[in-house]
Amino acid sequence: MKTIPMRLTIALLALGTLTGFALAQAPAAVSPPIYLKCGWLFDGKSDQPRQNVVIAINGESIQEVGSASASGQIVDLSRETCLPGLIDTHTHVLLQGDITAADYDEQLLKESPEYRTIIATVNARRALMYGFTTIRDLETEGAGYADVDVKKAINNGIIPGPRMQVATRAMDVTGAYPLLGYAPNVPVPHGVQIVDGVEDGRKAVREQISHGADWIKIYSDRSYFVRPDGVLDDIPTFTMDELRAIVDEAHREHHKVASHAMAIHGVHNSVEAGVDTVEHGYYIADDDLKTMASRGIWYVPTIYVGDYVARGRAAAGAPVWVQMLSIHEDTFRRALKAGVKIAFGTDAGGFDWKIDPAKEFAYLVKWGMTPAQAIHTATSSAAELLDMRDKVGTIEPGKLADIVAVSGDPLKDITVLEHVDFVMKGGVVYKQP
Ligand SMILES: [Zn+2]
Repeated sequence: MKTIPMRLTIALLALGTLTGFALAQAPAAVSPPIYLKCGWLFDGKSDQPRQNVVIAINGESIQEVGSASASGQIVDLSRETCLPGLIDTHTHVLLQGDITAADYDEQLLKESPEYRTIIATVNARRALMYGFTTIRDLETEGAGYADVDVKKAINNGIIPGPRMQVATRAMDVTGAYPLLGYAPNVPVPHGVQIVDGVEDGRKAVREQISHGADWIKIYSDRSYFVRPDGVLDDIPTFTMDELRAIVDEAHREHHKVASHAMAIHGVHNSVEAGVDTVEHGYYIADDDLKTMASRGIWYVPTIYVGDYVARGRAAAGAPVWVQMLSIHEDTFRRALKAGVKIAFGTDAGGFDWKIDPAKEFAYLVKWGMTPAQAIHTATSSAAELLDMRDKVGTIEPGKLADIVAVSGDPLKDITVLEHVDFVMKGGVVYKQP
């Protein structure tokens, strides 16, 4: 048995030099296999970690998980806990953390989509190095179809990054999405495709899918305020007819719909229209939680970002963002109790990509999940949301070899996931302790 030496090219990749790019390509099925010798394994199927497990990797897939003796190339992770590659179901690789409206406007007005795409390639690499081997990127915020090209560059082995499902431009109605507030005679860009009316909605779905959208993303509400009874209220954007048309067209073409819905009406309308995932969901009425549970509609709560933007937005004159935090916690706890399916999503890009999105895990646990439940949201559950259960989300034979490792026990201290020190995607090592 010998330990595989730290491959120079891997180190270079991590450092971001050009030399390592060839390694990002999926390896051909080669023999002999690579063996990962894990001190502990959380396989994503069971809540119970197993001790001293050897994972055999052949090409891009997991060949065997067991205690069999390994000979050949061995990666020694005997002091680490191995887990399935993490999955973030709500990111924005084209965003850099916009706390205030002014930050956001500046980005769209002063940075070209080309410049933003270059930064997005760095963000994609960061996501992978944090241990996120798969992401669902939920719209480019004014950068057109740049996400399709970032995904393509990753899949073609040109840049390192996670597996991606992308939403392209997203949709909202006239007057509802930034940039807003400019003089009527000054044309400004918008962070979404503006869509009004049923026919427009169907056409936008067809257009976005034809240009590479995996998901359709809609914004269902805006202008949040807390009612005297503590309920988070909003102004719904689309009419029910518009929402139904968009959802129907997407489903007719076998694509799913993610709905940004923060408050009572946005969530209710989204659920009634039959969306597949509710994003943020700061306030969700009990009846809607019940419907979500019975219809299998996902809740992607994105907790950390709320905390990240709250104080800045309050300082900029919108104290509602601070009030919303406790409302969100109450909703999350009710959703957990109601048996709603919850998947890990962070809104990374809504906060700076220099911050590890794995910070979300500690919030999930603080708000009532067990560490094992929290890990499932970012592995097996997220894989289910993405319809990728046959490929990722668990460590078992036949699945893609997307594996990360941390030193320490995430079931005792969930924050160790903020320090992933081994990353393998599709059998290729990108980071090693
Ligand atoms: Zn978002």
